[in-house]
Amino acid sequence: MISHQDACSLIDTPAAGLPELLARAGELRDRGRGRTVTFSAKVFVPLTTLCRDYCGYCTFRRDPGEPGAHTMAPDEVVALAQAGGRLGAKEALFSLGDKPEASFASHREFLRRHGHRTTLSYLRAVCAAVLAESPLLPHANPGVMGERDLAALREVNVSMGLMLETVSERLLARGMAHDRAPDKVPARRLKTIALAGKLGIPFTTGLLIGIGETRRERADTLVAIRDLHEKHGHIQEVIVQNFRAKPRIPMREAPEPSLEDLLWTLAVARLVLGPDVNIQAPPNLTPDVYPRLLAAGLNDWGGISPLTLDHINPEKPWPLIPELRRATESQGFVLRERLAIYPEFATRAEYVDESLRARVQALVDEHGLVKESYERWRRW
Ligand code: SF4
Repeated sequence: MISHQDACSLIDTPAAGLPELLARAGELRDRGRGRTVTFSAKVFVPLTTLCRDYCGYCTFRRDPGEPGAHTMAPDEVVALAQAGGRLGAKEALFSLGDKPEASFASHREFLRRHGHRTTLSYLRAVCAAVLAESPLLPHANPGVMGERDLAALREVNVSMGLMLETVSERLLARGMAHDRAPDKVPARRLKTIALAGKLGIPFTTGLLIGIGETRRERADTLVAIRDLHEKHGHIQEVIVQNFRAKPRIPMREAPEPSLEDLLWTLAVARLVLGPDVNIQAPPNLTPDVYPRLLAAGLNDWGGISPLTLDHINPEKPWPLIPELRRATESQGFVLRERLAIYPEFATRAEYVDESLRARVQALVDEHGLVKESYERWRRW
């Protein structure tokens, strides 16, 4: 592990120095995580695309009435989870906007019709339905949460997540990425992650790069995540996500980070976070360069869906998994499936709600990975 100061000294790494930086990160990963690279077979559940925030880079959020604006009913979610379960998925990844009820009367009315006042209470009920009616294990990413909501959601989630994104407060200024995003105030996100640690929730977080932050601010963000993990021990995964420009977003003209910049950040993340932390980069955001991402020190590909993205042809597996397997094995790694809860947490009772322990244990081997007999993706 390197100090904050050492991380800052890497900011001006010249292009010629990148291979050496990557090699250091790769060695550190091998020392802690060995040559196993994991992924989770998941179903993506966009519970609601409504959100009270307006992040400059967001491709997900919608206002009510906009094409694509939708809040899923419980039976829609259960049907999707069951379809994923038939294809061997184990994780229901709930993605949703932050506190839409604070901004939209139509959403408050939707919640009232379903017997709820808040989106987080509705989310809890839908997670419970998925557990009762499908084989999937929920992992929710619902934005900033207080202690009571975290505790309630812990009972129906094997792990949870909140991207820290950045600790840069500069990005809250007018015209910047988080200008209209009250839930992206770094202190609020740090508090949620700390509360999750206090409650013993295995937690996924990470940073988003290329949204106007400096490399120094990336180093600050990584160190903030490390500090939280050193205090609570609950960070199961750190995602390094790269900004991608899309036509309909406010930041559509902003430059995307280069591959070299992504590799630099992955390597510095490994050096700051140390040999044991799970580091992930979403492969679909940087296709065709999987070996280079592996060389930068990651050890996980994140959640991969066996369902097509449009959910229209649920029997057709997403081709990414065989592709990733080939790329991973070609670099001398073994690809293994994990649950939404990482192996080192799946095997520790204090990190899993009592009601979920038997289900988790039934799926994993002595290393906490999905038992090979349950790895349906091997047949695709
Ligand atoms: S909080 Fe920001 S990134 Fe998340 S859904 Fe809302 S607008 Fe999008």
